[in-house]
Amino acid sequence: MIEPGATIGILGGGQLGRMTALAAARLGYRCHVYCPERESPATLVTPFATTAGYDDRAALARFAEAVDVVTFEFESVPADTAEVLAEKRPVRPGPAALRIAQDRLKEKDFLHSIGVATAPYRAVAGIDALGRAARDIGPQAVLKTVRGGYDGKGQVAIRPDSDLAAAWREMGAEIGILESFVDFVCEISVILARGTDGRWAAYVPVENRHAHHILDTTIAPARLAPQVATRAEAIARHIADRLELVGLLAVEMFVTATGEVLVNEIAPRPHNSGHWTIDACATSQFEQLVRAICGLPLGSPERHSDAVMKNLIGAEVEGWREALAEPAARLHLYGKGKPVPGRKMGHVTRLLPRRS
Ligand code: AMP
Repeated sequence: MIEPGATIGILGGGQLGRMTALAAARLGYRCHVYCPERESPATLVTPFATTAGYDDRAALARFAEAVDVVTFEFESVPADTAEVLAEKRPVRPGPAALRIAQDRLKEKDFLHSIGVATAPYRAVAGIDALGRAARDIGPQAVLKTVRGGYDGKGQVAIRPDSDLAAAWREMGAEIGILESFVDFVCEISVILARGTDGRWAAYVPVENRHAHHILDTTIAPARLAPQVATRAEAIARHIADRLELVGLLAVEMFVTATGEVLVNEIAPRPHNSGHWTIDACATSQFEQLVRAICGLPLGSPERHSDAVMKNLIGAEVEGWREALAEPAARLHLYGKGKPVPGRKMGHVTRLLPRRS
């Protein structure tokens, strides 16, 4: 067990790292943030920080010496970085989960290999392969980059009349994945914590609504038939078990009109759709991450309230005064300075009486 007083190393300096560091501090841990940016949301809340590139071996060695356990707050941290650190300190979740989550093709292949349903997909490595894949998959599809895409970046919608060569150029990478378009009724996610002893705790499935490909609103809980909610949780648990994951796993899924649940993406880290847990649950996703990676007992994921979490994107953050005036609203700002269009500047969670 890594006891309170120890130092947690966090790779990445964004808001997820910031909220993890705040939760860790409440339990008496120190956090040391490692990121290339000099000032970041996470480094603003802890005095222990390393500003260096993810390939800086000397800085990584010093960081490993300074911490007791390592986690990461975004999955684009190079897996090699996690592997270098894993030689010296426990890295939780491990580099293997990171490798899978940062490559859409590896991710889909892994899910397929463990019997988890996804949209039909094909790997595509050029315009000719794209033509063949489009014939296999069907005329409505989404072309995505295999690596580095998030918030809808590197994605191109394919329709029956699309110019495939133009779509390939627009995607802009050497390898992509073509997925059939899922006509979903809603998008949901399940966040689950899994401890060093394999015990787990899952938050109720939530509904996620996007605007311009960026998460806009999370509704907790999602209004789902009980068997769909149970299936979604079972899928998340199965994935976490097969990854032997220690930490947090977020699983994004599509629910179709017939109640089918298809996995879109997995993220082995805190997730934007779990921010509501800070204000509405006995244990937040961030505290749960700290507990899991330090080998502490997991907390209760029970909610005392229902909640609607609204991201404050770009200039929306200027509504912070109004949010402060609402009795049921909980405001979280990430310390990012001037609003930038499309950037997540903060969020507001509005608490509602629990309905079920
Ligand atoms: P992603 O970056 O894969 O999470 O995709 C961003 C968003 O694009 C998702 O949350 C969906 O709203 C939409 N999307 C992605 N893949 C598909 C798909 N195969 N079918 C329908 N919508 C999709």
